[in-house]
Amino acid sequence: MGHNLSTVSDLAGRVCLVTGASRGIGRAIAVALAAAGCDVAINYRSRSEEAERVAAQVKALGRRVTIVQADVAEAAAVSAMAAQINSALGPIDVLVNNAGIALRRGIDDLTEADFDETIAVNLKSAFLCTQAVLPHMRAQKWGRIVNISSGAARGAGSIGLHYNASKAGMEGLTRGYASRLAREGITVNAVAPSLIETDMMPASEANAGARIPLGRQGRPEEVAQATLMVLGNAYMTGQTVHLNGGTSFD
Ligand code: NAP
Repeated sequence: MGHNLSTVSDLAGRVCLVTGASRGIGRAIAVALAAAGCDVAINYRSRSEEAERVAAQVKALGRRVTIVQADVAEAAAVSAMAAQINSALGPIDVLVNNAGIALRRGIDDLTEADFDETIAVNLKSAFLCTQAVLPHMRAQKWGRIVNISSGAARGAGSIGLHYNASKAGMEGLTRGYASRLAREGITVNAVAPSLIETDMMPASEANAGARIPLGRQGRPEEVAQATLMVLGNAYMTGQTVHLNGGTSFD
């Protein structure tokens, strides 16, 4: 039959945008994509030095790279970002919506501003970036989108209800796009990690020994591996892949 299921052959040479790629999970995904033969656009909001270091890692892997500062919660900034990537690397074939914030708030100290900011950065950003990349993906009848959700989309989580809502919304967005784009060769999936060791979830907050059956936090590289697995699979769409060290099995 001769079906070639090599992930690398399908992704090699593709232009990828990873939002929030200056640190943590986004950085690991950007580097893994470069290792798989992709050219990578590294988006960040404020930490330009970290973004430069990730770009150096991508270049060291022999791939083309561009760095784009943009607040992905802002429509105008997302349009400008897409245009900048288009002229630097070409149109975007693969989008990873990873940028996110985790404001730790209880029921009583959560403000309207916190709520609005969380929904804008974690959820609206994925809509804006998806809308920006779709015209090219639809024209070529090929595209891959992965949304970095969280165990908090379905579980209790420890950040706050605004964060739960933003990530549950992201999974709704994932299914909505997936169902409408499957016939056009574009897959849209979510990867939902929990308790990954990054600036957002340091060991001091994670309480891994007590909370995680595997006894440790996850690593950003493990989330990157799952993301590459999803991106490399042409038949999976509208799904959420969980990584949580055995904390739940939904
Ligand atoms: P992190 O270490 O705090 O890094 C966040 C990244 O997002 C940084 O690159 C940051 O850029 C960028 N960013 C934040 N707001 C942005 C904005 N408005 N526009 C553009 N970029 C923005 O976080 P992380 O732990 O790697 O988390 C990455 C994603 O995984 C998030 O969506 C998070 O919700 C999700 N997640 C994380 C965990 C976990 O345990 N760590 C678990 C489940 C889900 P700057 O460096 O410029 O600030």
